Amino acid sequence: MTNVMMIGASFSEVERDRLKTAFNAGFVADVTDLDSLSVQARAETAAVAFKGHAAFGAAAMDLLPKLGLIANFGVGYDAIDVEAASKRGIRVTNTPDVLNDDVADLAVAMLLAQCRNMIAGDACVRSGDWAAKGSLPLNRKASGSRVGIVGLGRIGREIADRLAAFKMDIHYHSRSEKQTPGWTYHSDVVSLAEAVDFLVVALVGGKETLGYVGTEALAALGPRGVVINISRGTTIDEAALLKALESGIIAGAGLDVFLNEPDIDPRFRALDNVVLQPHQGSATTETRTDMALLQHDNIAAFLAGRLLLTPVN
Ligand code: NAP
Repeated sequence: MTNVMMIGASFSEVERDRLKTAFNAGFVADVTDLDSLSVQARAETAAVAFKGHAAFGAAAMDLLPKLGLIANFGVGYDAIDVEAASKRGIRVTNTPDVLNDDVADLAVAMLLAQCRNMIAGDACVRSGDWAAKGSLPLNRKASGSRVGIVGLGRIGREIADRLAAFKMDIHYHSRSEKQTPGWTYHSDVVSLAEAVDFLVVALVGGKETLGYVGTEALAALGPRGVVINISRGTTIDEAALLKALESGIIAGAGLDVFLNEPDIDPRFRALDNVVLQPHQGSATTETRTDMALLQHDNIAAFLAGRLLLTPVN
């Protein structure tokens, strides 16, 4: 018998083995596969270990009448209808903090790669163009420039700390002013964009931040402006972003997240002013292990009737 169900095709073999060993957990690849389980398996499921970005809504929760916990693998839980879960008495947990460093590292890496034209530089060396055609055009200095963080939360702050070490002038927008070492607060995202060269988006995803960075903010960032997004594809108005990148309204972007991942809008692939990453902000062996352990520990706490480590609701 199992009372833990893993849901998510993206669980690695190691992660699946770990949860199977610990809890004799069952597995389905997707929320939509829950109805393929026997009535008994569904009736016994008390906790779900969830991984991925497919929607986990009320209808799926209702297929699991004894469900008491959805333990999300990841800090962002915008795929889970937390309101529906709360209404049903289902607790939700996530995996905050353990991934901050990696996500912040990737944001900085994309910013530097974009400024220093590293993708074209790599291609130039590999193709032999360096010897055949000479050096690339000069690139752009990153250190000492002005950066704006949209969402000074856990990850946003780690990004700001790193960029401060690059002697950047740090500006930020959050819903309220924070205690910072002299960074400049902006109460709205357009005024932030107007003040900076780089705009780094580190917001939560979900309905409330849908299209948070839109046409106006991109226009305010201007033709030398670069957007970095490590949050969710939803937080930037993607149609406006594509238009801005294609028409020179902004200079470029570094993007780890998109709408409709992994089948992203092909217009991104045609752009030469972007650095594109396959949603891999937290994807190091070390951090994924820590995330898996935190998910495991939340499930173990729930099953033992102890306090949850990182509750969302
Ligand atoms: P966090 O500490 O909760 O910070 C979230 C930020 O979003 C805060 O600055 C918060 O604003 C802002 N925010 C929340 N609700 C908002 C609303 N309704 N309107 C405007 N702003 C709002 O979260 P975190 O741990 O830094 O993670 C941030 C996000 O990064 C995650 O939710 C996830 O989507 C994304 N992420 C991506 C990857 C990746 O692989 N690319 C990996 C991990 C996480 P205040 O400062 O005003 O509270």
